[in-house]
Parts: sequence; structure tokens; C-alpha cells
Amino acid sequence: MDAATTGSGTTPVSSTATQAPAPAPAGRFPEHDARVARIAADLRARASAGAAGGAPMSLGKAAVSHFVPNPHDPRHKDKKLDVRALREVLAFDPAARTMTAEPGVTFVELVKRTLPFGLIPKLVPELETITIGGAVSGCSVESMSYKYGGFHDSCLEYEALSTSGEVVRCSRTQEPELFDMLHGSYGTLGILTALTFELIPAQPYVHLEYVRHARFEDFEAALDAAQRDPGVDFIDGIIHAPDELVLCLGRFAEAPPAGVRPSNYRFLDIFYKSTRTRSEDWLTTPDYLFRYDTECHWLTRTLPGLERRPVRLVLGKLLLGSTRLLTWSRRLAPLLKFKRKPEVVVDVFIPGKRLRDFWDWYVKTVDFWPLWVVPYRLPRPYPWVAPAQAAQGGGYYVDCAIYGKRNDTPGVDYSQALEEKTYELGGIKTLISQNLYTRERFWQIYDRTVYQRIKQRMDPAGVLRDLYDKFNFKKA
Ligand SMILES: Cc1cc2nc3c(=O)[nH]c(=O)nc-3n(C[C@H](O)[C@H](O)[C@H](O)COP(=O)(O)OP(=O)(O)OC[C@H]3O[C@@H](n4cnc5c(N)ncnc54)[C@H](O)[C@@H]3O)c2cc1C
Repeated sequence: MDAATTGSGTTPVSSTATQAPAPAPAGRFPEHDARVARIAADLRARASAGAAGGAPMSLGKAAVSHFVPNPHDPRHKDKKLDVRALREVLAFDPAARTMTAEPGVTFVELVKRTLPFGLIPKLVPELETITIGGAVSGCSVESMSYKYGGFHDSCLEYEALSTSGEVVRCSRTQEPELFDMLHGSYGTLGILTALTFELIPAQPYVHLEYVRHARFEDFEAALDAAQRDPGVDFIDGIIHAPDELVLCLGRFAEAPPAGVRPSNYRFLDIFYKSTRTRSEDWLTTPDYLFRYDTECHWLTRTLPGLERRPVRLVLGKLLLGSTRLLTWSRRLAPLLKFKRKPEVVVDVFIPGKRLRDFWDWYVKTVDFWPLWVVPYRLPRPYPWVAPAQAAQGGGYYVDCAIYGKRNDTPGVDYSQALEEKTYELGGIKTLISQNLYTRERFWQIYDRTVYQRIKQRMDPAGVLRDLYDKFNFKKA
């Protein structure tokens, strides 16, 4: 339990409290401070033992990682820095719509805490156990990204540890470059230990409308128009085939109409398939936010039979849900050691103005469905993107997520082809799976100068891997 200090006294807070505590300025949480001090001491002990000399370090979190498991990932052998204790909500102010929490808090826990107060985070990634620290350090994108960008765009302040054990606080006004660079740094520029972020009003249900198009140009026009409609709260698209493009529009609601029962896609029924047949749907807000969790989008398709009801009845409790699916694939990853090219699992951010070019190429070259598309607008420029690449994006992207394409065609590596096309169109590939870019190309996309400046500030001895090295382990 931690303490949130108010002007009039001290309010205890724990992850399970039901009453909202008052807000507290960062750094006023003794139990949190003690947890951070223990991690700082561990970092200092490693530094004095010379761990920086040759043994890179990675984080040991409590929640499952959402990086695509890869048997060649050298991090399997790293000595972990134990950050499992950092998983408490520290302060919650419903009136100001802000929360301060440790990085290991998962989005499913957050929504449970905030929704009873009619609030949710501005961006909720749709896999339940993505953590707030992971969402800032990596990437986050969902159907509110067209309004709010990623989760980090709603953050007001970070507390972080440098690898020498120094506690640093940063915000848009205090060390703003560090604040911006912690986003998308994938744990290579220090360790986040607390985050303060904004919340937005929410209602208990979401009404979904599915608008079907047979031609890309109609879908694209509808996608653009929906973003100008103030009545819409959530926008994404599921493209089931080149002539079956479904725009999914969500709107908050207090309740479904009398006699309508909300759907449930947590066990036997499959959400993404429902968008092929239905024209509308009702879900509770948590079920909407985590609608892709049961199948981990549609990765259950890669496990024979798991989309069939009898199999789900027997094995569903063991296998369904992103946490279980990722845990199993991590356990089984060593079996894939001899597979030449892993399945394609990647999100690529394509500049909105080049979406048509990407589409024409994708239909001809990749031809894998469903393709998940999510409009994403940067509220502010991201300084980690190299200026020339950022200029091509123009601040508006469409995230195209390719989850589970088999990559066994001789002579073609679809992961590499997608990377190259993304670069050519001025886009950005997120680092949720192995990276295949050359070092030179990689640093044409990411801004090396700013990165090195912050690396020097937070990890001068290189205890944490460099961003390029962390994800390029093809031949390790
Ligand atoms: C199949 C699949 C589907 C996905 N779908 C979505 C989606 O729909 N929406 C979405 O937003 N995202 C999605 N993601 C991406 C996911 O949000 C990111 O990979 C995110 O970074 C995962 O966070 P995590 O909490 O699991 O952290 P991890 O995967 O454990 O870590 C991610 C990175 O953050 C770093 N990190 C974690 N904690 C800290 C910390 N405290 N301090 C410093 N660095 C830290 C780690 O070192 C690592 O490099 C998907 C990923 C996969 C594989």
C-alpha cells in the first residue's frame, strides 16, 4: 500500500481500493520510493561489479511481454533487473482526471479501477496485460488513436532510473527531450518507475456500427469522414478481403436499448468474425476495449481447430486470451529454432497520404487477411523519428497490422518486404518483433543524434542494449 499526500493529510491507496484517493505530487510515496531505491541499489551493484563490461541487462516484469517470442532473442540469456514489484496505482484524482501509477500496472487493472468513476485512460491497447510502462517504452495504438495518438501522448510526467541508479523526473517542461525520448525507446534509455497520465470520461457500454465497403477508395473516404464526425468515439477497420472492407465505428452509451443483450466474445464466439456478418453490435466498455484479447486479434487461427466451438469448449480455458497465448508461444519458441523465417507479426505506420500506394502493393504482394487498420494522429511531433522520415509522415498515419502471415515462400521474406515498403513510403515499423533493417537504414528512420544524447545522459556505460542491437538478432 502506498500513501497519496493531500493538503489535509495522507490517504492510503492500494490497487484494490474502491474509493478514489486524492492526487499527490510525484515523489511523495514512501513505499514506492523504497521499491525504487531497491532497484537503484541493484543497478549500482551491477555497475560496480562491472556488469556493464560485457553483459547487457534486460527487465524482469511481472506481466507477460508482448514482444513476439523469438528463439534467437539473446535477451533469454540476460541476467534480469527485477522490476516485478512496480505494479501499484499510487494516486487517482477523478475530479482532475489524472492518475499516477507504477509501470507494471496493466491496462485491464487500470480500466477496472477507473471505469466505476466514469473514466478510462485516453488510449487503452486492446490486449489486457499490456502494461503502462510497456505502452510508453514501446508503442501503443487503438481505436482512439485518431484523436489522441498513443498512450504516452496522454502522459504528464515520468519518473525514471538511469543505469547508474539516479532517480530522474521529466515532463513537457522539465527535461522535455528526455520525456519525449522515453517513448519508443523500448527500455534502452533507462527504467520507467512511475507515470502520471490523463483520463477521459467514459460510459458503461459501446455501440458498434459496421460499415461495409467493396472498394478501397470508398473505405478510405469513409475512414476520413468518420474522423471528422464528433459523434464517433472509436474508429478502426478490419479488412477481410480486398473487396470486403469493414469500417468499425464505436460510440459510448449508457445502456443498450431495452431487450438487447450485449454480445460476449470472451469464450465461444469470435469477435473479428462477427464483423463479417453483423451490421451493429453492443458490448460492455471493458469487452469493447479488450475485444481482440481472446484471440490475440486472430492469432488463434495459427493453432489448428482453436476457432471451432467444440475445441474452444475443451481447451478454451487453457489457451484463449492473449496472456495465455503469448505464454504458450514463449514456452514453445525453442521448438521454432530451426524454422527459417518466423510468421509475420508486425504493425507498420503508413503516412495517410500514401495509404493508397501501400494498399495497391499489399494486395498484389502480401495478400494476407484480415488486415487491421487504425488511423493515428500525432498530437505533437515525435523527436525520436528522424526529421526526413517525419516530414514524409506529416503527422497522420494509418497503422496497418499484419498478424500471422506464414513466411515460408521460397525466395521471399514478407517481414523484410514490409519493412522496405514502409521505409519507401516514409512510414515507421514498430518494434514488436524482430527488426531486419540494416544499421544504416534503421538510423535513417530513428533520430540517432537525439538518441545518443539521451543515451549518454541515462546509460553512458551501455548497460542496456542500443536500440538497433536490441532487435537485430537474426544471426545471434
Ligand atoms: C500480436 C501483438 C498484438 C499487439 N496488439 C497491440 C494493440 O492492439 N495495441 C497496442 O497498443 N499494442 C499492441 N501490441 C504492441 C504492444 O503494445 C507493445 O509491444 C508494448 O510495448 C507491449 O508492452 P508490454 O507491457 O507487454 O511490455 P514488454 O513487451 O514487456 O516490453 C516492451 C518494451 O518496453 C520496455 N519496457 C517495459 N517496461 C519498461 C519500464 N518499466 N521501463 C523501461 N522500459 C520498459 C521493454 O524493455 C521492451 O523493450 C501488440 C503486440 C503484439 C505482439
